[in-house]
Amino acid sequence: MDYQNVIEKIYREVQPLFGRGKVADYIPALANVNPRQYGIAVATVDGRLIGVGDYRTKFSIQSISKVFTLVMVLRHMGSALWQYVGREPSGTAFNSLVQLETEQGVPRNPFINAGALVITDKLMHLYPHPKEAILAFVRAAAGTPDIDFDTVVARSEQEHASRNLALGHFMKSFGNIESDVDALIDVYCHQCGIAMTCEELARSFVFLANRGLNPYNNEQILSISRSKRLNALMLTCGFYDESGDFAFRVGMPGKSGVGGGIVAVIPGRLSIAVFSPELDPHGNSYMGIETLERFTTDLGVSIF
Ligand code: GLU
Repeated sequence: MDYQNVIEKIYREVQPLFGRGKVADYIPALANVNPRQYGIAVATVDGRLIGVGDYRTKFSIQSISKVFTLVMVLRHMGSALWQYVGREPSGTAFNSLVQLETEQGVPRNPFINAGALVITDKLMHLYPHPKEAILAFVRAAAGTPDIDFDTVVARSEQEHASRNLALGHFMKSFGNIESDVDALIDVYCHQCGIAMTCEELARSFVFLANRGLNPYNNEQILSISRSKRLNALMLTCGFYDESGDFAFRVGMPGKSGVGGGIVAVIPGRLSIAVFSPELDPHGNSYMGIETLERFTTDLGVSIF
């Protein structure tokens, strides 16, 4: 398939939509990002990489990091993990506290903040140096050592972390967090503050389109069955409370972040990463969703 032509055409068509969304402003360092950025990268399971626009520009991956930490913890804990976090869409905002009280401190899924905090808590008990371990995992998956934390973003997020601290303490009161909550939020803010390009993100997710196998170094990152499960979670829970609409419009499992990035996969074919920092009211990249909708429509391929 001629992915290069398709993404170049979409890139031109979507340009007029600049200005429809709004950059995230609840973390000051994210509010300062230049809104007029837009890039697309596709990584195919047979090793091709295609890109257009700002596809080599670093940005804050934010919630996309929740996929990496979940993969790391699943590799160690397997299904024992599911007693601490659920696998259902939440239907509430990513940082909501409302379900936690009635559900005894067990978050609905690993992609809302509460669930991601449970995963990071587990990771801190599995790895003596969790921040370094996360970076090592992401660098290996993307096939480049050139990936790091944006410490300005991480610090800014840490200084405005009241809600995540509240989620951590609340779950600790139910016994579902073991770590010191301040230490937990430190690791969490760093994982969200990892800076990556669309190219690196597409490459680091292609194993989820390839039955768990990283095609660049032949490492089986996840088993076939766990790779399927990860994709199911991304399809049902990857886009905050817009996950149903994303499945309806786009038809790909994926994960977004409030930095304006989205990564999605078509199993057996490719992963695609889009970056544009202006967000819709649910916190997903406005032009990112538009791009992916056109991509599956123009190519006539999706998971359905
Ligand atoms: N660092 C963000 C937070 O916890 C993640 C938000 C996101 O990308 O959904 O608020």
